[in-house]
Amino acid sequence: MFALIDANNFYTSCERVFNPKLNGKPIVVLSNNDGCVVARSNEVKALGVKMGIPVFQIRPLIEQHHIQVYSSNYSLYGDLSQRVMATLGEFTPEIEVYSIDEAFLMLPNVQDWNDYLHQIQATVKRWTGIPVSIGVAPTKTLAKIANHLAKTTPDAAGVFTLLDTATQERMLSQVKVSDVWGIGRQWAKRLKQHGIETALQLREANEWQIKQRMGVVAMRIVLELRGLSCLPLELCPPPKKMRTVSRSFEHPVESRAELKEAIATYTSRAAAKLRGDNLIAGVLTVFVMTNQFIHNEPQYQNSASISLPVATNDTAELIHYAMRATDTIFRKGYRYKRAGVNLTELIPDTIEQRNLFDDLNKRERSRQLMQVIDNINRKFGSETVRYATTGLKRDWQMKAVCRSPRFTTRWDELAEVS
Ligand SMILES: [Mg+2]
Repeated sequence: MFALIDANNFYTSCERVFNPKLNGKPIVVLSNNDGCVVARSNEVKALGVKMGIPVFQIRPLIEQHHIQVYSSNYSLYGDLSQRVMATLGEFTPEIEVYSIDEAFLMLPNVQDWNDYLHQIQATVKRWTGIPVSIGVAPTKTLAKIANHLAKTTPDAAGVFTLLDTATQERMLSQVKVSDVWGIGRQWAKRLKQHGIETALQLREANEWQIKQRMGVVAMRIVLELRGLSCLPLELCPPPKKMRTVSRSFEHPVESRAELKEAIATYTSRAAAKLRGDNLIAGVLTVFVMTNQFIHNEPQYQNSASISLPVATNDTAELIHYAMRATDTIFRKGYRYKRAGVNLTELIPDTIEQRNLFDDLNKRERSRQLMQVIDNINRKFGSETVRYATTGLKRDWQMKAVCRSPRFTTRWDELAEVS
């Protein structure tokens, strides 16, 4: 059986782990740069606050209902996510981490599902502080629906199973076809034109006609809804194709020096992530853009790619090329809103394609240096050691004025007991 385990309102739940005063209080978490709402506690959902709404539009509501507002704290969320996944890994080695707060598990058939799932749920809550909902069914697509039902059925207590045909049929008749995993808005529209509005109607549709009209992916969804598993667990995630780090600036950046600082910072973050994945990059792209929403300002966006002489994940080397790329696209007289770095043509770092003029000793020294830097930064917090080109003042850096402490990843931000 497939189980889909999904953390409830994950980011807001993370905020509550180290701040239990927030239990029962309305909370929102904001996007990078404190722009939009990206996570809502149930209390906020009940107030009708929509996902993605710009925060300034709900200021009166925030005042009126004392909504607690947090900047996103990805260090904390990422770390708690790993703890949740590690806890789930105690129940089965067959686990596919699907997103920061969702995982598919393959579970053996048990006598008492309710009891077993509540045990998993209680263990995750006890070990990590994060509440989760669990849906179980014979296919991934049905497990997704079961998870949705676990969250929305009042007396389900966060677990729901779709094991037998009768239950599946009864519940699928109440699920809109647009809520089925993999059915986008366009497909939902087309299905509606053919009289298919519920998940049950899709399950009972002629799969060959669906295949003819919409392709094999849609046919698979039909079969999955019938309980025939077509989507296996992906135990090894497919290798990454690219690594992008891109941010909006706190205020418009106009000078070449500031833009370069920002791009050097993003490059070193991307390089560190690449090393974490044991990959090296063959191509580096830098891109910059102005704010297209400010109509009376001159607009400009551009990008430059450099094919690296030897694929690498060395921060200094990547910064060197990123600076060169920045110089080719920087134009004076614009107010830049956003910039980023994209590393592509990624290959495992065990594959070495050497260049005739490459200095092997130097490459080995750089590898060791990167290892030392990564170890220090892992132990003492990110950016404890960093390149000076990434800037000291960093006025451009986005604001995160109401970020909670990074309780689990920074020594100087540990929870205090007084
Ligand atoms: Mg979730």
